[in-house]
Amino acid sequence: MYKTEIQSITNMSLSELEALCTSMGEPIYRAKQMLSWIYDKGAAAFDQMSNLPKNFQRRCAEQCQVFQTSVGTITQTAYGTEKFLVHLHDGNVIESVLLREGKRVTACVSTQVGCAMACRFCASGLPGLERNLTTGEIVEQVLHMKKHLLPGERLTNVVFMGIGEPLANYDNVVRSMRIINAGWGLGIGVRHITVSTVGVVDGIRRLAHEGLKVNLAISLHASDDVTRSKILPINKKTGIKNLVAAAREYFKVTGRDVSFEYVLIDGVNASKQDAESLARLLKGIQCNINVLPVNPVEEFNWRPPSQGAIEIFCNILEKHGLVATIRKKKGSHINAACGQLRLQREKILWKKERYFVK
Ligand code: SF4
Repeated sequence: MYKTEIQSITNMSLSELEALCTSMGEPIYRAKQMLSWIYDKGAAAFDQMSNLPKNFQRRCAEQCQVFQTSVGTITQTAYGTEKFLVHLHDGNVIESVLLREGKRVTACVSTQVGCAMACRFCASGLPGLERNLTTGEIVEQVLHMKKHLLPGERLTNVVFMGIGEPLANYDNVVRSMRIINAGWGLGIGVRHITVSTVGVVDGIRRLAHEGLKVNLAISLHASDDVTRSKILPINKKTGIKNLVAAAREYFKVTGRDVSFEYVLIDGVNASKQDAESLARLLKGIQCNINVLPVNPVEEFNWRPPSQGAIEIFCNILEKHGLVATIRKKKGSHINAACGQLRLQREKILWKKERYFVK
């Protein structure tokens, strides 16, 4: 049985843990000792922290816990990808994904139980939002995957692209990013941390000013409001122009290129006119456009365009000075990890306290 999430060490920053040590009558250096055990050496319990006094280990165990989550089933899928079902203290279950592409090993983490965004192609959003994940619940997903690496493997990247919209759980996502980035935490550089959003405009603007300079990936999928709102209902609230303005601000403040994900759907957003319209929309933004042909989705009668049409689409973007990359389905982060686009690949039925992957 887990204690409440508030008592988990993985929820805490260095200064918060130092304050806890002080309140327990211990020197503040105990905090760094504990964090080193958790983030460097993979300790899962206080009695494994052999340089802490036994009495302090026992008192910590009475007041706190190291982990508030546990790993259930790990499923191997194609191309070295592994899916982790992670059990939460309240009985809910979330999914994390470990992606391997050459030397790049990416932990893809969920940020919410369920999701309120209701993107048309996503099964994760179907039951709606249950709750936000805590900071520790996000951080622990990375720790679980780190512990599971093969000998000689190193975790190189973290992507906030699992179940849930990261910027709708802003505070916990930013806190967890700081822990993942910190030298006393997981030590992953900001250039190797990516937040993938369907376009929470306020969140993008706030993130620009956090001083974090992480990578930002925006699921765009259309260049006009009517088409985008059909695919991503959040667009009805935000509007595409506001979203692109927020992306411009993110680049201006952080100096980091923004990535736009664009799924090509024949007859919906993949014509020459769509490419011209997209080029006009993104004119002057320092960005990469990741183009991905949709997998067939029977429910919506969506089909990918022909290879020739995909190349024409990208050529038009490049003619306008934009950088477009055709993502192969094999290694695509979107296809492998996020709730985005996976409806067509596997049926996922999510229910309270149950999670079925068929
Ligand atoms: S694609 Fe992502 S943001 Fe959209 S409903 Fe699915 S989990 Fe939520």
